[in-house]
Amino acid sequence: MAASHTSEAKPQFDQTAPLRRIHVLLPLPLASAYDYAIPPQSEGSELIEIGDFVAVPLGRRKVTGVVWGEGSADPDNAVAASRLRPIAQRLPAPAMAEVTRRFVEWLADYTCAAPGAALRMTMSVPTALEPPRPRLAYVLAGPAPARMTGARQRVLAVLADGQAMPTATIAKLAAVSTAVVRGLVKHGTLHEVQLPAELPVPEPDWQKAGETLSDDQSAAAAALRAKVEGGGYSTTLLDGVTGAGKTEVYLEAVAAALAQGRQVLVLVPEIGLTAQWLERFERRFGAAPLAWHSDLGAARRRLTWRAVAQGRARVVVGARSALFLPYTDLGLIVVDEEHDAAFKQEDGVIYHARDMAVLRASLGEIPIVLVSATPSLESRVNVETHRYESLHLPNRIGTAELPQIEAVDMRGEAPPGSQWLSETLITAIKETLEAGEQVLLFLNRRGYAPLTLCRTCGHRLQCPHCTAWLVEHRFHGRLQCHHCGFNLRRPQACPECEAEGTLVACGPGVERLGEEVDALFPDVPRMLIASDTVRGPEAAAEAIRQIAEGEVSLIIGTQIVAKGHHFPMLTLVGVIDGDLGLQGGDLRAAERTYQMLHQVAGRAGRAQRPGRALLQTYMPEHPVMKALVSGERDSFMAQERRAREFQGLPPFGRLVALIISGQNEAQVIDTARELGRAAPRQQDVEILGPAPAPLSLLRGRFRQRLLLKCPRNANASALARTWVNLVNVPQQVRVAIDVDPYSFL
Ligand code: ADP
Ligand code: ZN
Repeated sequence: MAASHTSEAKPQFDQTAPLRRIHVLLPLPLASAYDYAIPPQSEGSELIEIGDFVAVPLGRRKVTGVVWGEGSADPDNAVAASRLRPIAQRLPAPAMAEVTRRFVEWLADYTCAAPGAALRMTMSVPTALEPPRPRLAYVLAGPAPARMTGARQRVLAVLADGQAMPTATIAKLAAVSTAVVRGLVKHGTLHEVQLPAELPVPEPDWQKAGETLSDDQSAAAAALRAKVEGGGYSTTLLDGVTGAGKTEVYLEAVAAALAQGRQVLVLVPEIGLTAQWLERFERRFGAAPLAWHSDLGAARRRLTWRAVAQGRARVVVGARSALFLPYTDLGLIVVDEEHDAAFKQEDGVIYHARDMAVLRASLGEIPIVLVSATPSLESRVNVETHRYESLHLPNRIGTAELPQIEAVDMRGEAPPGSQWLSETLITAIKETLEAGEQVLLFLNRRGYAPLTLCRTCGHRLQCPHCTAWLVEHRFHGRLQCHHCGFNLRRPQACPECEAEGTLVACGPGVERLGEEVDALFPDVPRMLIASDTVRGPEAAAEAIRQIAEGEVSLIIGTQIVAKGHHFPMLTLVGVIDGDLGLQGGDLRAAERTYQMLHQVAGRAGRAQRPGRALLQTYMPEHPVMKALVSGERDSFMAQERRAREFQGLPPFGRLVALIISGQNEAQVIDTARELGRAAPRQQDVEILGPAPAPLSLLRGRFRQRLLLKCPRNANASALARTWVNLVNVPQQVRVAIDVDPYSFL
């Protein structure tokens, strides 16, 4: 990968002495690693090793990279010694492990990304490479100030329990300026103390006993323990109905890895899921694991990254980016809800975290466990072909039964305009509430209404930057684009025909469903949960707690409440629009809808009381609805499998999508056409497109798509890379390569 590149020459050391030459990979989208020199007389030069983090000059900048290898042996392929620049310094951070470096290379190769772009994902916390800084904090220690103010009083109250906190935290909690805090320090009321420079990480107690496992659970747990204890790479699919006790089972494998002194990574699809998981883990092992997600504050990210790199962090739970932390001795990976599409990263380096986790496990020669109640077709076929092993938990824990699922045929029961609840569902809600139990109404649509149009001229309110309607959010009084965030105040007049008061909301969103529910059940405490009403993991955790403890009776939510949670009082799930996910040309539409609705229905009746789910649908005869009602998951998946195999679609064939985008439409079309002409012409390779993407305008960029389809055993990444390299892409046009696409928009 390293080749003859230089970063503008200006020799800065004695050229007559022999020098050591190294490749440094920089976290930038460059084609390869760059050569640098380590001058022999520089202090500690012989100590620099492969994997070390180093600062190097690049043009006029200083950049941090990783020593990727020893210098080029091939003299033709090397930067002349006279043009080589020396590294600036070695950074005081643990070196990047070999397995992480190989992971970066493999990932870049598979996803057709630049190695530097893949490297950047492992270096997401630049400050973590700097030496630890002393962290100052303050405690209440001295006499109270002579002059007491409201602000000062609040500071004293915040610190009353003896906790030491940094100035900024005190100021935030007490709602005062930092000057108030500093004033109290000067006065002697607060004393300075040093917090530990590194994050203290409590040790989970792997010897602590868990629940007494059922026979099925014990057998599965023993098999997983054996995988961990035996060592080596393996992928095991843990397939069991919702509420079967799968988590309890894989926690046994976690205990086994901890017993060996190794690190564990648990990937979950959404950060909203981590809170309940953290609590559960803490109950099981007596110490909380470290959470990793995009919402962590800068200081916490830094400390967590370092704790992982130092091997002090034992268990990390997080969203997909947790895969790129610098583990020193990772011994087990668990991917919970492995079927979930949220594991696919769609921006920047486009990758599927589940698949890359399997790659990471094989490179690290460790076991990985994929967990789901509705495994993906990909994983099921891998079990069939013996690439993966499988373990099965067919029953719910204890006396809990799977919920009874019924379809409500909306063709006979459609409610009047602007209402979405059928009589059948309303009756069931009443019965459930009267019995003192909880109801979840599921509608996977944020906001009030997905479309606003003018009654007079038919104009639809669209995003100016995207091929998308503006979604009304009545709570904020705005219309918003769910793709780019563009928003405006809901206008009084139609922007097209200027008629006043003619704009009408079309279709339901959760806010609108809330209105309908409030009219029907005015005195019932209810909660609305969507990613824009519950912001951040703490708010989500609090909402989940309120539901779990029965503080609300009726929950209206999008998919963020649908997954993984355990709500003992919840016995009725109503799906408002079961057909929603079936629209559009996604090859996985049926599979995904099945998985989603099965998950949602699975929230009902997880404890003593039996659960029930009602699916409102206009297509009760659709295979997805029939499979949900009959509970015949395996025959539904077998049918999906046959259809995919017949069409040569994944996992029986490979797909790579090219997304060509830019602000100049003609240029985008030209580039797409040229790519079309340069497409590989091989018998077993099929090219679809170019054609405008369904989202033909996104964030102000025009988009065209091409799709390559090839046999399963073909090297799809190599085909795509060679193909794209044949075409001269103008600077302003971007060609994104999506290997194994999950989105076709
Ligand atoms: P899944 O992950 O398969 O949906 P969980 O592991 O969350 O299921 O288990 C469902 C519920 O049953 C949880 O509240 C869990 O604590 C409880 N549970 C699991 N296994 C046992 C067991 N062997 N004995 C008692 N309770 C259990
Ligand atoms: Zn937009």
